[in-house]
Amino acid sequence: MKKIPLYGSLSVLPDDYVFARTAKRKKEYMLAHPEAEIIDLGIGDVTGPLPRSAATELSKAVLEQSEKASFRGYGPYEGYEFCRKAVSDYYFRRTGVKVSEGDIFIGDGAKSAIMRLMLMFESEIVVFSPAYPAYADCAAALGKKVKTVTRSAQGDFQPRPDSLALKPYLVILCSPDNPTGTAIKREVMRDWFEFCRKSGSAILFDAAYENFCAEEGVFSAYMQDGMKDYAVEIGSLSKSACFTGLRGGWTVIPSEIADGRLKKAYERMLAATYNGCPYVVQRAMSGALSKDGDFERSAIKNEMRSAAKILSLALASVGFGVTNSDNSPYIWAEKPKKLNGVESFGYFIGNLGIAITPGEGFGKEWSGFIRLSVLGGEKAATAAARRILAHFKE
Ligand code: PLP
Repeated sequence: MKKIPLYGSLSVLPDDYVFARTAKRKKEYMLAHPEAEIIDLGIGDVTGPLPRSAATELSKAVLEQSEKASFRGYGPYEGYEFCRKAVSDYYFRRTGVKVSEGDIFIGDGAKSAIMRLMLMFESEIVVFSPAYPAYADCAAALGKKVKTVTRSAQGDFQPRPDSLALKPYLVILCSPDNPTGTAIKREVMRDWFEFCRKSGSAILFDAAYENFCAEEGVFSAYMQDGMKDYAVEIGSLSKSACFTGLRGGWTVIPSEIADGRLKKAYERMLAATYNGCPYVVQRAMSGALSKDGDFERSAIKNEMRSAAKILSLALASVGFGVTNSDNSPYIWAEKPKKLNGVESFGYFIGNLGIAITPGEGFGKEWSGFIRLSVLGGEKAATAAARRILAHFKE
């Protein structure tokens, strides 16, 4: 039989995506040990519920769709005006920066936007390791050249431009980032601005965790003056408003970048490949991004912060090196020496009944670290902290 040729770069991807792999291993373990009560701190999913502000708007929109007079079919590719305005107003409340509604594109979350944006640039892509694995996977799938820069645990994981040549790159910055929870410092963002200005590089700023960031960190590229000339940005309600199942996010492409050519090309590409985020979801997004929604998202953040504190203290007290977790719903922890060479996922699930994500899922050199998610809230974090204290203090 003749072989069907597939797109070449697909073969360079690892066999499975890191979070799919850990989910599969967890399922296999649970099948083999049906009595085990597993606490899942592995995949970064939320446990809900949706904020009331989002749910109310969502249900109203569903009813509108059930009436002939208010029914809506295909919407604008770039998103409805009411939703783009809700994002723009939210930016202003959160950052004090005016992001024009016309530069905002509504989509189904941050992940699909990463691939669309990578497609728009010719340049080599810079990824700071450890990193959200989708960056390198997307780039590889598209056949893009990737430059991986390893961050220094000693330099508190700040991604800096120092080691890069002065040439045009597409640099991916995430702040606060997954997995380390590092929020980029304002002076480091200033260095990035200077770098872009001198090199012709652009920034893809991933603000998926902006809601969790303390005021002194950078949670939007546009907090740096002049960055609208160089940075595109993606945002998401997945973690801040429990939208992982509903799906809703945005992309900002300032008209200033490349004299408007990037925005124009993106609009053209979107029209050819995407029929828009569902109307009912955009209504839910506007609810979550309203002033009432701000309070509810703040409550979600506060619960995660307190869960992160409980778990970090427990880990630190038994010898793990915990990276500051004030800015994100993840804890990035260096294993104590006695666990050197131990395979983390198997060890934690087998001995503690806790599913974690091994550090090497975020870059091969990080097997000495683990990532724990507190997106499941305080109850799960407290139960896990008890098991950690009991196990390692033995
Ligand atoms: N960016 C980062 C850094 C993430 O950690 C995630 C999800 O975990 C995403 C983007 C994707 O978010 P979304 O659910 O909006 O696609």
